[in-house]
Amino acid sequence: MSLQGKVALVTGGSRGIGRQIVLTLARAGAAVVINYQKNRDAAEAVLREVRELGAEGMLYQADVTQLPECEKMVKATLDQFGRIDILINNAGIRRDNILALMKVEDWEVVVDTNLKGVFNCCKAVIRPLLRQKSGGKIINIASIAGVAGNSGQANYAAAKAGVIAFTKTLAKELGKRGITVNAVAPGFIETDMTESLPQQLKDMVLPRIALERFGKPEDVAEAVLFLAEGAHYITGSVIMVDGGLSL
Ligand code: NAP
Repeated sequence: MSLQGKVALVTGGSRGIGRQIVLTLARAGAAVVINYQKNRDAAEAVLREVRELGAEGMLYQADVTQLPECEKMVKATLDQFGRIDILINNAGIRRDNILALMKVEDWEVVVDTNLKGVFNCCKAVIRPLLRQKSGGKIINIASIAGVAGNSGQANYAAAKAGVIAFTKTLAKELGKRGITVNAVAPGFIETDMTESLPQQLKDMVLPRIALERFGKPEDVAEAVLFLAEGAHYITGSVIMVDGGLSL
């Protein structure tokens, strides 16, 4: 139980990668705050699983694009658990299209959620973390699209590249306070986000993955746990969890 006594806030914890991160941190003993936007039923199911693991948890509905909502979420976390140690910025969406056809709204909502959402949650958590004077861990879920780009995802790739630069900058700012800031960059992971992609695209991607399979949320959660429970001398890094897709 390496995370016993620690409190972790996971954005987008109701489904997919976020759900698995919640369960993995809970299994390691952390108390978890499960943020979600719309899917209350899914979030409640995750909370039940957390409790079955013998861990503490709470739900918090907040839209990460709204700073006041993120601030209230952090306050609720402190009211409930008295502290916060780990922030996982996982909430994200995609609205794919080639640039010629991409609507301004699709650019804005993706950048607002995937990049500004990370800014908002970090901004909301930073003062409480500093006041605690006990270090902390911030882990941002980026994407290989933010490293290599991806056709049809100008909005998504730009936002994720922003997350990586933001991660490195915050790592420099917070190192002296004992707070590490890292990113995990998944490749193709089987979740609701990728389920709706055309089979033709999946058939094209699979042969490019060195490990010859799509990733599972557990593969990403493993890397997050590594960063959350130890990795004391790692900050400003991007861990690729892509089965070799980016090679
Ligand atoms: P997913 O299954 O679609 O789940 C997305 C999660 O984000 C849900 O919990 C959703 O909450 C939440 N969310 C969306 N907008 C939100 C908002 N404005 N405020 C708060 N929560 C919000 O996605 P996923 O595949 O697990 O992806 C998780 C993260 O990994 C994302 O950042 C994604 O970009 C990244 N990623 C995924 C892949 C992949 O292949 N799947 C690859 C690289 C990176 P509700 O349930 O309430 O809607």
